[in-house]
Amino acid sequence: MRLIFLGPPGAGKGTQAIRIVEKHRIPQLSTGDMLRAAVAAGSPVGVKAKAVMDSGGLVSDEIVIGIVADRIEEPDAKTGFILDGFPRTLAQAEALDVMLASKGLKLDKVLELKVDQSKLVDRIVRRAEEAKAAGLPVRKDDDPEVFKTRLQAYNRDTAVVAPYYEQRGQLTAIDGMQPIDAVTSAIEKALSGS
Ligand code: AMP
Repeated sequence: MRLIFLGPPGAGKGTQAIRIVEKHRIPQLSTGDMLRAAVAAGSPVGVKAKAVMDSGGLVSDEIVIGIVADRIEEPDAKTGFILDGFPRTLAQAEALDVMLASKGLKLDKVLELKVDQSKLVDRIVRRAEEAKAAGLPVRKDDDPEVFKTRLQAYNRDTAVVAPYYEQRGQLTAIDGMQPIDAVTSAIEKALSGS
């Protein structure tokens, strides 16, 4: 099963992706996680991406497309995957089409978590507080001001991606404002209908 999760930052993509990973035994390919690992490792990609990520902007299509192309070649992604945080631009969506077509592969579903953006800053503040209380590292870009920039980037560059898939009949919208378990149920319902 090959899935994409769309939705603004803080919509719950990561939380729901973990549940899908457990149930369906497919890896979560989070470009945010991959980029954070590159930054932590101090690799050339990480060095280029760090400042952009810290400011809440988008890393270049070229870099992100490159890391996804490499990642989907890995053995654990052969039978399926869930893309979380990618594609974030039309250029990335088109590049993904080319990558999959060259392997004779198709997407099964694109799930869009719909949320009330005015509630997202509160959510992100809570996420940072919970991480801190659990002794986990707090993401630098979960700062409310940086988060606003991330939301702007979403509305400017990423909001066009959902209609791209909708036109092809591949998109399912999920109400992401429900409690976490209800969102998971709605996702499972959408997947069982595919
Ligand atoms: P995320 O964990 O998905 O919220 O991503 C954290 C940050 O990584 C984003 O704010 C961007 O700076 C960068 N990033 C992650 N995925 C992408 C992508 N597909 N395209 C461009 N930048 C990305």
